[in-house]
Amino acid sequence: MLPESVLNRAAAEMLDYAGSGQSVMEMSHRSKVYDEIIVGAQQLLREVMNIPDNYKVLFVQGGASLQFAAVPLNLMATNCADYSVTGQFSGKAHKEAQKYGLANCIASSKDQNFTTIPHVKAADLTPGADYLHICHNNTIFGSKFAELPETGNVPLVADISSSFLSEPMDVSKFGVLYGGAQKNVAPAGLTIVIVREDLLGKARACTPEVMNWKLMAENDSMLNTPPCWSIYMCKLVLEWIIQLGGLTVMQQRNEYKAKLLYDYLDKSAMFSNPVQPKFRSLMNVTFVAKSDELNDMFVKDAAAAGFVNLKGHRSVGGMRASIYNAMPVEGLEQLVAFMADFERKYA
Ligand SMILES: *Cc1c(COP(=O)(O)O)cnc(C)c1O
Repeated sequence: MLPESVLNRAAAEMLDYAGSGQSVMEMSHRSKVYDEIIVGAQQLLREVMNIPDNYKVLFVQGGASLQFAAVPLNLMATNCADYSVTGQFSGKAHKEAQKYGLANCIASSKDQNFTTIPHVKAADLTPGADYLHICHNNTIFGSKFAELPETGNVPLVADISSSFLSEPMDVSKFGVLYGGAQKNVAPAGLTIVIVREDLLGKARACTPEVMNWKLMAENDSMLNTPPCWSIYMCKLVLEWIIQLGGLTVMQQRNEYKAKLLYDYLDKSAMFSNPVQPKFRSLMNVTFVAKSDELNDMFVKDAAAAGFVNLKGHRSVGGMRASIYNAMPVEGLEQLVAFMADFERKYA
């Protein structure tokens, strides 16, 4: 979801942005009017996430999936890196990195069907590893890191696609943060990379230029055409977050929303959530009913009642409520009421 006020504003500015006589969709990315948008978006992101000055913010294309390759290409200088595999996307990142060097899986919760997150201590890291990669929020399995791994001097690299802007994060604890914007930040097309300056300049010679973080940083994300419209939408979403009170307020809102659903799941006799409570995601709540038949019936009945996209990812089944920032509290209240009705009906 995107906030309705943001969509209304985009609609109002669609044909004529700020008296420019153009839609943002039509602008040259090198024009003065567009420059204010991209510079503004970066400034607001820095303000909202409290990004320290020694980090670069890059607006790139290709999705988080392209960064699965960009991370090793830019950082795997000694040919060795560590991966924590806690769900589908961290598994994909790990697999991609194996093309470029020794990518060690040093922690995994696969044998527990990703219902938990193993803790990583500095002593668990491979000596000489160039970085440790994690996925901060596991979109498909509905789990999230409760505490960050301890990596000592080894840079921590995190895919934050599905927890971007959902809560405050101490950026200084990371070497690199990256994520696709389409879950919480903007429409599809934009990927954001936040990288500590001292990690730039290690890219392999074969790295495609548009994947080279240093080149992208030197060119203010304008080495080639950036995803202009999506960056504009990102700026509007950031303005909405600031208006609400910033990431601390966003986190409180998200905790309140998620609790409504988890509390119901924990007392339900029909539905349950498989994730260890400490590691439950604020953004993606997975749940199952007591049988596959009930799961199918629930997804069908829910869709008929207007609750769409509740089917779990095709790889895991069951249900998943993705309750990103823009989902209003009423959305959760109505879902819980609908689930309670369903439970009474089919108990
Ligand atoms: C959705 C998602 C991805 C994939 O993002 P693309 O932009 O489609 O490549 C990767 N990681 C996480 C955590 C995601 O939620």
